[in-house]
Amino acid sequence: MEKRGISYSGGMIKEIIDLTQTLHSNIPTWSGTCGFESSILSDYDPARVHSFTFHLSSAGTHMDAPSHFCKDGLHIDKIPLEKLIVPLCVIEVTQEADADFFLTPDHILHYEKMCGKIPPASFVALHTGWDQYWSNPEKYRNADDEEVLHCPGISLEACHLLLERNVAGIGIDALNPDGSDPEYPFHHAFLGAGKYIVENLTNLDKLPPIGAYIALLPIKIGDASEAPIRAVALIF
Ligand SMILES: [Zn+2]
Repeated sequence: MEKRGISYSGGMIKEIIDLTQTLHSNIPTWSGTCGFESSILSDYDPARVHSFTFHLSSAGTHMDAPSHFCKDGLHIDKIPLEKLIVPLCVIEVTQEADADFFLTPDHILHYEKMCGKIPPASFVALHTGWDQYWSNPEKYRNADDEEVLHCPGISLEACHLLLERNVAGIGIDALNPDGSDPEYPFHHAFLGAGKYIVENLTNLDKLPPIGAYIALLPIKIGDASEAPIRAVALIF
């Protein structure tokens, strides 16, 4: 069965890349508290059964639905699958992306010069390299004395250009596309336009800048504004 370039019968997909961080109790979170816990309720008596606790809906690699910042926005369980399995554009800025970096429209136009115009309904992943600090939560959060976190982000001007391109969503390999801006202008504008955001991606260095697909599958929790996801890239 062929649909929008993806072969479901096997043979066409060359490589599958996991873009998801593994959940455990020591993962970095925006709040600095524990995001996730797992304990064993029954140990092969007769089966192994766990108790999972998500202290934050934003634990690990997760999706922000439009309802995360907009009261009348779509919840996680209502985002159509057609918007979650889409062509993938990867913008790489690892040389420039320090803790106070913001993606600008010029970065996007430079990408488009090399790879062509970002197609509508695609997903744009910003590859900053910040996930190298994932196993060091203090460095990954990078909080200053005022508890403002510092990581690479996306400017409001770049947000407007991405909205002009009518992308389905964006993702970043850091905590938050608003980077060090505590007012969350990117979240307000992007989610306000009905788009979704994915945070804490990894393995973006293994992806081509254009040509792959991405599957972003959130746990289907009713009326949730955020949910953990399994993010996978399909390379053809
Ligand atoms: Zn967010």
